Amino acid sequence: MADRKNDFQKEEQVFLEHLQKAGLKRTAQRDLILEIFLRTEEHLSSEDLYWLVQKQDQSVGHTTVYRTLKLLTEAGLAREVRFGDGKTYYEHHYNHEHHDHMICTECGKVIEFFSPELEALQDAMAEKFGFKLTHHNLRILGVCSDCGKMESELYSAASGALPRVRVVSGKTK
Ligand SMILES: [Zn+2]
Ligand SMILES: [Zn+2]
Ligand SMILES: [Zn+2]
Repeated sequence: MADRKNDFQKEEQVFLEHLQKAGLKRTAQRDLILEIFLRTEEHLSSEDLYWLVQKQDQSVGHTTVYRTLKLLTEAGLAREVRFGDGKTYYEHHYNHEHHDHMICTECGKVIEFFSPELEALQDAMAEKFGFKLTHHNLRILGVCSDCGKMESELYSAASGALPRVRVVSGKTK
């Protein structure tokens, strides 16, 4: 553990300060959960993170993982995101640019995007309604290009089996 290279010094400092403020102790389990969370560049549910932690230390319980994720969120290191499947996911928040999400309803793929135009439009809308915008979470649901391709291939295979008769109605030239 001593010669583990430390890529997350700042994040660890933020977490430590938060633990002190909350009157909690630094523990090896919390450190491990933080490290695995920071190393995983993905949207994780607390179960996802639990299984990753289990690979390294089987003594860590699900409740500890869940509570630590809550602490990470309070500390501003993690952010909660919801993709409409009823689960709460967590992603990196500290030093990460704001972004929004597109979610494929077929395969669950999540695309992160950022559009200054969209951001500006949202600000303008809020202003128009005298609404003080604190944060937002834009979620676009649909079908990703891979799933879209598969669908159209299925469709063309099915229609390819039909007799290729084109019925042209209307006026002839
Ligand atoms: Zn946005
Ligand atoms: Zn998809
Ligand atoms: Zn994201």
